Amino acid sequence: MRVPGALHVPEAGIINYRQVCEKCAEIVASRGGDMRLNTKVEAIRQTGYGVVIETNNGDFEAKFLVTCAGLQEDRVAQMEGAGKDVRMIPFRGDYYALKPEKRYLVKNLVYGVPNPIYPFLGVHLVRHLDGDVHIGPNAVLNLSREGYQREFNVMEFAETLFFPGFRKLAFKYWEEGLQETWRSLHKGAFLKAAQRFVPEIQSEDIEAAPCGIRAQMMTKDGTLIDDFLLVDGLRSVHVLNAPSPAATCSIEIGKAVAERVAQRYERG
Ligand SMILES: Cc1cc2nc3c(=O)[nH]c(=O)nc-3n(C[C@H](O)[C@H](O)[C@H](O)COP(=O)(O)OP(=O)(O)OC[C@H]3O[C@@H](n4cnc5c(N)ncnc54)[C@H](O)[C@@H]3O)c2cc1C
Repeated sequence: MRVPGALHVPEAGIINYRQVCEKCAEIVASRGGDMRLNTKVEAIRQTGYGVVIETNNGDFEAKFLVTCAGLQEDRVAQMEGAGKDVRMIPFRGDYYALKPEKRYLVKNLVYGVPNPIYPFLGVHLVRHLDGDVHIGPNAVLNLSREGYQREFNVMEFAETLFFPGFRKLAFKYWEEGLQETWRSLHKGAFLKAAQRFVPEIQSEDIEAAPCGIRAQMMTKDGTLIDDFLLVDGLRSVHVLNAPSPAATCSIEIGKAVAERVAQRYERG
């Protein structure tokens, strides 16, 4: 009998990311930083002095700007004329949750070895700090950038379909795309992916859980950019692509951005 191999990594862990964000906000505030929540950037203008950021809560003037807007980052960067050759493609990841009485089946994070030709890891099992176990995600094209309830946005969907890179990708990977869509619609197909790791899980043990939407930047030739991508604007740096594990690496990405800003200042 062939026994599937696995590595146990005792150092692997999971954190409460909301608490991480709250701590970061506390540190920023303690060092004199000002956080403006519910403030949407609507336009970016150059001035002789620096940049003016127009928002729904008034204008802000700065010598230098760093943007990092996730699913909207291409639009924000393009307000300043940067990142014209890329497009954000929203990929929904569906999840299931193990019913409480079956949570004992998963005591750790259970991840597969990623297929290097895709930017996504594939279905895996995650035990959260509160004991919840989530199974997922798959990766299907979403019908709008922020459609967490599968809302259809005609303009955004057409924007994706008419982007030349998307058509190239769809042509190349139509089979995998159909399989992922099937997994999204069919619980049994999703379950099969989970059973590769934990064969004991049965259909009645899992229930649908909220989905996530990945911000995945694509180039015009259909390449899914799988690395972090920082792009310079006139007086700005745009974090154009920050896919998973950008949350885990956020402090290192922050250091890279800070170094880049410092170098740009030195150059004048
Ligand atoms: C389902 C799922 C699971 C994941 N799991 C992991 C994981 O286990 N580990 C890991 O490291 N990463 C994980 N990731 C990836 C991680 O969440 C992202 O890489 C990371 O959040 C990217 O950070 P960001 O700042 O670029 O974007 P976001 O975190 O999306 O932040 C962008 C912010 O910009 C704001 N914004 C957008 N437009 C505007 C505008 N016009 N004006 C002002 N603000 C604006 C948004 O409201 C948002 O608050 C996961 C992602 C998903 C979807």
